[in-house]
Amino acid sequence: MKKMLKLESKAGLIICCSGPSGVGKDTLITGLRERLPHLKHSISLTTREPRHGEVPGVDYHFCEKSEFEEMIAAGEIIEYDIFCDHYYGTRASVIRESVANGQDLILDITVAGSLRLKELIPEAILIFILPPSEEALIERLNSRRTESAEVIKKRVAKARSEVAEARNFDYLLINDRLKDAVSALEAIFIAERLRSKHYNISQIDEDLEV
Ligand code: 5GP
Repeated sequence: MKKMLKLESKAGLIICCSGPSGVGKDTLITGLRERLPHLKHSISLTTREPRHGEVPGVDYHFCEKSEFEEMIAAGEIIEYDIFCDHYYGTRASVIRESVANGQDLILDITVAGSLRLKELIPEAILIFILPPSEEALIERLNSRRTESAEVIKKRVAKARSEVAEARNFDYLLINDRLKDAVSALEAIFIAERLRSKHYNISQIDEDLEV
């Protein structure tokens, strides 16, 4: 009989990815989840209209402004922000259930949303995704062809103010070459997952006889 060490995860990780609209957070998170399928993506609530190809309940839970405001009043939304005239928010139950079940959760939320979550949950890990340049960001927003010129202008203005907050994040990551950026994100995740504070250590008896 050999004594083996067993690590038992205490709680799920909360990983918040923020960065300017168009920086490629969605694609990065999809790439990461292909490598780490157990990682759950938090599906946000929003009052904006679905874009072409977006699926309700998969990309977002789409709702009316009045419903969103009722949920805020009822304390059902742990953090929210107004982005380009629309509400976006995270349901408290999503966070609660993930932490309790030891489920690692990744969120794609605004800078203000991430900073708010960190205030409420200091263990949350904040990652700021930067574009290689402002020109590259504008090019990506234009090539998506999902927003009007006016909305793109608003998103670029918001991007400038968001980048100014990058210093308050735990990690900075430039999304230049997608594959490298996904690898960097994976490295952050793996290192964070292995931190000793996340585990209880116990000994178990392992029967080595076959
Ligand atoms: P989009 O309209 O491009 O899908 O999202 C616009 C912005 O809203 C993005 O920066 C995205 O990260 C952010 N966002 C999406 N869901 C949430 C959320 O639940 N809370 C906050 N604070 N921001 C969110």
